[in-house]
Amino acid sequence: MHLDLVEESRGQRLLRGGGAVQADRTVPGGGALLGALDNASQRYGLATTAGNVSHTGVGGLTLGGGIGWLARAYGLTCDNVASYQLVTADGAVLRVTDSEHPDLFWGLRGGGGSFGVVTEFEFRLHPVGTQAMTVDLYYDLDQAGTALRRWRDLCAEAPRQATPVARVGRADDGRPIASVGYVWVGDIEDGLRLLPSYQAIGRPVEQRISELSYLDLQTRSDDTERHALRRYCKGHYLRALPDAAIDAFLAQDNNPGARLTLNGGAVTDVPDAATAYSHRDALFEFTTGDDWTDPVEDEPRISATRTYAAALEPYTSGTYVNTIADEDPNAVHRAYSQEKLARLHQLKQTYDPANVFNRTALKI
Ligand SMILES: Cc1cc2nc3c(=O)[nH]c(=O)nc-3n(C[C@H](O)[C@H](O)[C@H](O)COP(=O)(O)OP(=O)(O)OC[C@H]3O[C@@H](n4cnc5c(N)ncnc54)[C@H](O)[C@@H]3O)c2cc1C
Repeated sequence: MHLDLVEESRGQRLLRGGGAVQADRTVPGGGALLGALDNASQRYGLATTAGNVSHTGVGGLTLGGGIGWLARAYGLTCDNVASYQLVTADGAVLRVTDSEHPDLFWGLRGGGGSFGVVTEFEFRLHPVGTQAMTVDLYYDLDQAGTALRRWRDLCAEAPRQATPVARVGRADDGRPIASVGYVWVGDIEDGLRLLPSYQAIGRPVEQRISELSYLDLQTRSDDTERHALRRYCKGHYLRALPDAAIDAFLAQDNNPGARLTLNGGAVTDVPDAATAYSHRDALFEFTTGDDWTDPVEDEPRISATRTYAAALEPYTSGTYVNTIADEDPNAVHRAYSQEKLARLHQLKQTYDPANVFNRTALKI
C-alpha cells in the first residue's frame, strides 16, 4: 500500500494510505513515548495496542511484546508492527519486515532490544473510537474469594473488547480490599451490556463505573506510576486460575497488592512459533509490584514482593520478559522456551556478535 506523509511532529509521523479517508498506519521514532503514539492516532479515532502508562517508551515495550487494553481485540503491540527500521552495531540500516530479514522480524517481536537500535516502528492502527469504560466492583476480603471465583468463570465468555481485571490492595482507609471488573474500549452502550453479569457476582461494598476517553484511560495511572520512584515488580503467566491460586492472590501478610488480567483473544490468533514473544497460551497475567522513595526500604519492600510472587509460582507457566526486574540470568528461562532462546542467541551471533547491545534480559 502506498503511504503518504500527512503529519510530522517531534520525531513522530502519521501516515495514511494514498486516497484513503482513514489513516491506518503510524510511524513513531525509536525514542517516542506511548502517549505520543496514542495522541497522534486518537485524532482519527484510531489506536494500536499500547501499555497502560503513557510515559513508557514505545521501544522497550514493543520489543518485549507489549500488553495493553487493546491486546485481546488486536493482539500485542509487536503483533501490530508492519516494519522496523533498525541500525545494527556496525552501522547498517535495515528495513525489517516479514519478508525483509524475516529472522530479525521474528526476533524483534518479543525478543527485546538485543540486536540493534530501532529508529522507526511502523504500526497498523485500528478503528477503536475514542471511548472507554472501567468497571470495578469492590469486596472486603472475606467475600473476595467467592467474587474472584465467579469473576474467573465469567472470563470464559468475555468479548474481545473487554479486558477482565481483578485487583487486591488497600482501600484509602488502609483496610485490605479486592476488586473485580473489566476495562472496555469502544461504544459505551455495548460495554454496559456486560455489566449485569458482573453485578450478579455478589454484593460489592462499592462499585465504580467510569466512562472516560481512551486517552484518559491510557494516562490515568501516569501519576501513581510517575518517574523518580524506587520500584520493584514481579510477573507470572498462568494457563488457568485454580481456587488455590485465587487464595494465594488474596493472601495478605505483608503483600504489596497485585493485579490479574485476562489475556487470550487476538493474542492467541498468532501462532506461538511466529514470534519470539512466548506464552501466548497464558490465560491470565499476574503482576505485583511496589514503589517507594526511601532507599532504606529497598530490602523489605523487594523481599515482600518476592515472597508474595513466590507463593503464586506453583500455578504459573512462565513470565513476560518486560516484567523481569532482577539481574538473575535464569529469569530469562521463564520468559522463553529453550528452543526460542537458542534462536535468539543465533540471531545475536548474526547481528551483534560483539554484544554491543548488552543491557537486556538476553545474556550471551
Ligand atoms: C510504570 C510502568 C508501567 C508499565 N506498563 C506496561 C504495560 O502496560 N504493558 C507492557 O507490556 N509493559 C509495561 N511495562 C513494562 C515495560 O514494557 C518495560 O519496562 C519496557 O522495558 C519499557 O520500555 P522503555 O523503552 O520505556 O524502557 P527502557 O528502559 O528505555 O528500555 C528497555 C529496554 O529496551 C531497549 N530499547 C528501548 N528502546 C529501544 C529501541 N528504540 N531500539 C532498541 N532497543 C530499545 C533498551 O535498550 C532496554 O534494553 C511497564 C513498566 C513500567 C515501569
